[in-house]
Amino acid sequence: MTRYDAIIVGGGHNGLVAAAYLARAGRKTLVLERRPLVGGAAVTEEVFPGFKFSVFSYVVSLLRPEIIRDLELPRHGLQILPLESTVVPLDNGDYLGSWADPDQTRRELARHSPLDAEAATLFGRLMHHMAMAVKPILAMVPPDPTSLAPSDLKGLLKFGGHFRSLGAERFHALYKLMTMSSADYLDEWFEFDPLKATKSASGIIGTFLGPRSPGSAYVLLHHYMGEIDGAFRAWGFQKGGTGAISETIARAARAHGAEIRTGTAVAQVLVKGGRATGVVLESGEEIVATTVVSGLDPRRTFLELVDPKLMPDDVVAGINRFKFRGSSGKVNLALSELPDLTCLPGMGPHLRGAISISPSLDYLERAYDDAKYGEFSRHPYMDIVIPSMIDPGMAPPGKHVMSIFVQYAPYQLNGGWTDARRVAFGDAVVDTVAKYAPNIRSAIIGRQVLTPADIERITGLSEGNIFAGELALHQLFFFRPLPGWARYRTPIKGYWQCGAGTHPGGGIMGASGRLAALEILKGAGR
Ligand SMILES: Cc1cc2nc3c(=O)[nH]c(=O)nc-3n(C[C@H](O)[C@H](O)[C@H](O)COP(=O)(O)OP(=O)(O)OC[C@H]3O[C@@H](n4cnc5c(N)ncnc54)[C@H](O)[C@@H]3O)c2cc1C
Repeated sequence: MTRYDAIIVGGGHNGLVAAAYLARAGRKTLVLERRPLVGGAAVTEEVFPGFKFSVFSYVVSLLRPEIIRDLELPRHGLQILPLESTVVPLDNGDYLGSWADPDQTRRELARHSPLDAEAATLFGRLMHHMAMAVKPILAMVPPDPTSLAPSDLKGLLKFGGHFRSLGAERFHALYKLMTMSSADYLDEWFEFDPLKATKSASGIIGTFLGPRSPGSAYVLLHHYMGEIDGAFRAWGFQKGGTGAISETIARAARAHGAEIRTGTAVAQVLVKGGRATGVVLESGEEIVATTVVSGLDPRRTFLELVDPKLMPDDVVAGINRFKFRGSSGKVNLALSELPDLTCLPGMGPHLRGAISISPSLDYLERAYDDAKYGEFSRHPYMDIVIPSMIDPGMAPPGKHVMSIFVQYAPYQLNGGWTDARRVAFGDAVVDTVAKYAPNIRSAIIGRQVLTPADIERITGLSEGNIFAGELALHQLFFFRPLPGWARYRTPIKGYWQCGAGTHPGGGIMGASGRLAALEILKGAGR
């Protein structure tokens, strides 16, 4: 019987990154993925003949540069095409645009508010510094502040020293970002409401927060931390969709000797004498390994892949309290023609970027109000992109694919998600798009509607939370997923965690997979 050094449960991008690093270090590594394809929430699928979709995650920015370098991802197929603009259609028929050219963006903003045009430059600079301030933390294994172990004390010193080095002004700005609502934070900077709305939107993505909820400013910062080719705040498309990123990482892992088996669901992690010894598959096959690493979210890692009785009671209670509360949906459209925006008619560069349906802060807060009381937003926030405009291979010639990320669609819907409610949710989304692009209805050839319940069913992300657990302050850094268990270990020896439910959290970042692999390789915690 083959014995592996490491088995990774789940071939999401974090599992694949962990596998690549372990295999690169000479460990005999096997990835087991339940679905027929790798990638988890980062997959490309031909949902309608000839129309390819980044079914769940759709833009990339957060993938850590050190992973791109270490695994030589460009050599294995990483090719990110820039997403250059954002257009916000306004209720008065006008629009607010932001473009690749900063001067053009400044002029556009000045058209709406000369004061905001001035403030935006300073704000951009501050956010850049804030992202730089937080960036090293993304690559840091969280120390345990209650431990006196030398490695934890060293980590705490590094953490404290890092904040000290920021200086008072930047530390205060960071503290505010960690604690305030994005609306309050942006109110301190800007006056033009649609500008505040569109900026605050990145603070609500994937959360069960509204723009006026404290804590949303941190999520805004989380989305600012992206970097493409050294350009902060840049978002882009992977050629071939986000699935091509996962395949690229899988190729790198295989090149280092990792094996990847798809269509292979793990039923349980085998534990003998308090130590993980391998896994048993749903088929009944047993595979032995010295180390087992779960790329699944904390609920599945701690309470489903192993018998919860093997976990200390406080860990079970802590994971039961860990908040998932999925709040996002996705609608993917196959189109016979491009949307014709009333505010910017015809073909133009705006169709190569994002279209943000975020006309005002009140609009976003009302969208949240619906979700707070158990309904999907009747008028949702939407982040719309048309990948076929940048990567024509995504759709047949002359046709297009449209990706619509939707906030809010609560997992706990009143009466539960049924087929009829899914259709109604899809209708609310299309009706909202039609308000700004009336030709959309007649252009639809195919429509895929994904509710949080669908996201959970297909990817395994509990409650459909896109980040494998909310990015709330009480679930970050040394609290992610639990105090005492934030260093990728679990209470079972030889059983580790590497998914987005660990520090530094969700998004196509790969950081959890990398940090977990480096911890395992250090042999710490044996
Ligand atoms: C709708 C949506 C939109 C998003 N948009 C973006 C975006 O635009 N940009 C961005 O950066 N991030 C986005 N995200 C977030 C990002 O995609 C996720 O945070 C990230 O992909 C999680 O990666 P992961 O490897 O930790 O876990 P996952 O991708 O969840 O991978 C876990 C894997 O484990 C497999 N698995 C589950 N159970 C078993 C089992 N028993 N045995 C074997 N395998 C199993 C699953 O099939 C899956 O492949 C989005 C997510 C969603 C859902």
